[in-house]
Amino acid sequence: MDNDRYSFRICLMYHDIYQRTPYESGFQDKKAFPYKIQADIFEDHVKAVVRYCHEHPEVEVEFTFDDGGISFLTLAAPILEKYELRGTFFISTAYLNTPQFLTTEQLAELAQRGHRIGSHSHTHPMLTELTEEEIAKEWTDSVNILHPFVTEEMTASIPNGDGSVVVMQKATEAGIQRLYTSIPTTEVTRFMSIQVLGRYVVLQGMSAEDVMKIVCNNSFRQRLYIRWQVLRCVKDCLGSQYERIKRLYFRIKRESK
Ligand SMILES: [Zn+2]
Repeated sequence: MDNDRYSFRICLMYHDIYQRTPYESGFQDKKAFPYKIQADIFEDHVKAVVRYCHEHPEVEVEFTFDDGGISFLTLAAPILEKYELRGTFFISTAYLNTPQFLTTEQLAELAQRGHRIGSHSHTHPMLTELTEEEIAKEWTDSVNILHPFVTEEMTASIPNGDGSVVVMQKATEAGIQRLYTSIPTTEVTRFMSIQVLGRYVVLQGMSAEDVMKIVCNNSFRQRLYIRWQVLRCVKDCLGSQYERIKRLYFRIKRESK
């Protein structure tokens, strides 16, 4: 992709898309559900983004998807293709050929239809909790499996949120040239030979208007970045309690709807 063509690029981070139930694709753990988006709503997002980018050719919006659920091929790709777009699909390779995830043949089809394929580690662990050797293995195992499906540079996204210097270093050593994080920023930075990009997470319940606030509104994006920094501080202070509190928050939010 040509980085100089655009004033800036906004990367959106999706996970699974579903038709009727979040169980259709990807991880079956309920904590994955807030990240799954219903197909019609996803199409509304795409339509709104396409309309905006048509009027603002200086802006590029990249649709990225994490994990490797079967909906990458059955729902996400067809909706993007309907609007002449291609997505960036990050695969946790240990889940290939398991229920609700892509098969190797489906991954090949996704690549053949012009979508970009990248790594999302091999087993989707919390990379920062692994030893250096284990981190290296996560990236190399995944990259080795994905090589036949990657025609351009090797890209990757970090599973379960944040990375670390070691995570980035091992990614570089595994041949990854571009790494996507979940830090809500449009700033592109460099670490050794790797290009590091931020992404804006899209959650269940977000309307096309919510997504367009990310795309169009610089001060909204800045607020998201500040909120992310605050959350990171809270996360550092709470340690292992953080995930439990986050799940509780999503449950209260769901039940209050
Ligand atoms: Zn993931």
